[in-house]
Amino acid sequence: MSKVKAYGAQASDANLEALNIERREITADDVKIEIDYCGVCHSDIHQVRNDWKNSKYPVVPGHEIIGRVTQVGKNVSNFKEGDLVGVGCMVDSCQECDSCKEDLEQFCENGATLTYNSKDEHLGGHTFGGYAEQIVVDKEFVLKVPENIDAKAAAPLLCAGITTYSPLRHWNVKKGDKVGVIGLGGLGHMGVKFAHAIGAHVVMITTSPSKSEDAKKLGADEVLISKNEEDMKKQAGSFDFLLNTVPVGHDMNPYIALLKRDATMVLVGAIEPLDPVHGGGLIGGRKRIAGSVIGGIKETQEMLDFCGEHNIVSDIEMIDMQNINEAFDRVVKSDVKYRFVIDMKSLKN
Ligand code: NAP
Ligand code: ZN
Repeated sequence: MSKVKAYGAQASDANLEALNIERREITADDVKIEIDYCGVCHSDIHQVRNDWKNSKYPVVPGHEIIGRVTQVGKNVSNFKEGDLVGVGCMVDSCQECDSCKEDLEQFCENGATLTYNSKDEHLGGHTFGGYAEQIVVDKEFVLKVPENIDAKAAAPLLCAGITTYSPLRHWNVKKGDKVGVIGLGGLGHMGVKFAHAIGAHVVMITTSPSKSEDAKKLGADEVLISKNEEDMKKQAGSFDFLLNTVPVGHDMNPYIALLKRDATMVLVGAIEPLDPVHGGGLIGGRKRIAGSVIGGIKETQEMLDFCGEHNIVSDIEMIDMQNINEAFDRVVKSDVKYRFVIDMKSLKN
């Protein structure tokens, strides 16, 4: 085992602070990674603050990890020292169930091992994420990051990227479709970029009029302010697909009204109870509400390759590890453009 520097929270109401964690020595199947950058996902905040009632402390968050390989086990042939790699929300799964065999490890029937706050099968206790100097990960869960894209701005692709790319692909969003992305944060801004790259007509649906100009720069063709009932009514029944990234329980009825007959709204944000849905809003147009969680490893690699080809990365604001608590507060206030990324060099200070 080796001791590495990290940042974590000891309780749901505690700030993140410097601490030391253990990483395992590499096994034959492992890749050791020196972490250069780690994105700050809203899920990190939910987990630190125990919003989902399953947090184990200390929580060391971070599942948008970019770094360089420093060592590989003897069974590892597709990675070598120096490679630019990424690690997302999962670090292991059973590899045997139907979901794993279909490259859908995020739905592993025996429970995927999440990058943080999951049972650690090697060391006991629970897993620690990417707010740390280094990480050791099974080779099947390490992604290749295209060298032509900006490595620090690629970090958020590992969660915000795949979480928005996967539903657009699964629901077969295509050129010319009218797509609404609800919530312009870390996930939402990637949703806009991907939907635009696919050739959809993209509408940014936001509570923040001040983000309108940015939304257009990111690739939105139109901006719809969800608090403006008149404007919402004008667009009723016109959307082929909605991607809902709102991070808290909310009233979905106004969004359901935007869907066309037979169209789907996919929830990726609110992992908690939602306000009641009026059945009439769904029944009237044979509409659907669905959910989606990240994506499998194969699809995550496909997404990274797509980003390499189309030169897609996140819009980021770099921070030092020491500024993480202020960054958390700003994310909660929807005051981030559009993802914080931690420069892990600052951990050495
Ligand atoms: P974020 O950066 O905070 O963005 C969320 C955006 O939603 C905000 O910027 C805001 O955009 C909008 N919003 C916030 N509160 C709202 C409210 N009460 N009503 C309507 N809109 C609201 O968060 P994120 O990192 O993108 O994550 C979004 C959610 O997805 C989090 O809950 C996170 O845990 C979850 N998540 C899920 C998955 C998955 O696999 N399913 C993966 C990653 C994250 P506007 O200012 O434009 O309105
Ligand atoms: Zn995330």
